[in-house]
Amino acid sequence: MARYCDAVCRLCRREGVKLFLKGQRCLTDKCAIERRNFAPGQHGKSRRPKLVGYGLQLREKQKARRFYGILEDQFRAYYEKAAAMKGVTGATLLSMLERRLDNVVYRLGLATSRAAARQLVRHGHILVAGRKVNIPAFQVSPGQEIAVRERSRQMQTILRALDLLGGRVPHWLEFKRETMTGRVVSLPKREDVNFDIKEQMIVELYSK
Ligand code: SF4
Repeated sequence: MARYCDAVCRLCRREGVKLFLKGQRCLTDKCAIERRNFAPGQHGKSRRPKLVGYGLQLREKQKARRFYGILEDQFRAYYEKAAAMKGVTGATLLSMLERRLDNVVYRLGLATSRAAARQLVRHGHILVAGRKVNIPAFQVSPGQEIAVRERSRQMQTILRALDLLGGRVPHWLEFKRETMTGRVVSLPKREDVNFDIKEQMIVELYSK
């Protein structure tokens, strides 16, 4: 499967915001955007151009896509599904992205980044409703239990992430550290996405 293998800090610098792609490093003063808050590349230091219309829509889409670590084809497929569903397309799109299993593992504080969460899922450390699920794009549903497999509960990477991020679980999830078990309480709403994304711009871009 295709995946992005270049330096991820470049993506934050391109979008001009912290996308939290590098785990613990993003919370320290080693964060690249704290030191070099200009676009990557030869002309990066020149003033950021004022974006309007298509440029603005494209940047919002790229920002959301990179935040959730999704490639273009899959992201468009999410949009098409959201557009075919009842409700506000932009909010439905964000809800679907939030309900991805890799994002849920990250939101529960079991990994320091979505990429690390994705690896936990891929390597079979995560159970959904008691069964191993190794598909990062798996959509969780309200009432489902997400747990760390028993023999993976002492993994240093998980314990370190919990020490760093544990206790900051969004409203639509709950988590018990003693059993390393989380639960989806409800569907995520627009206000649960604590990131500055103008989803309407993404809808405008794709609906052209
Ligand atoms: Fe982005 Fe994290 Fe790199 Fe900072 S350290 S630029 S937030 S990926």
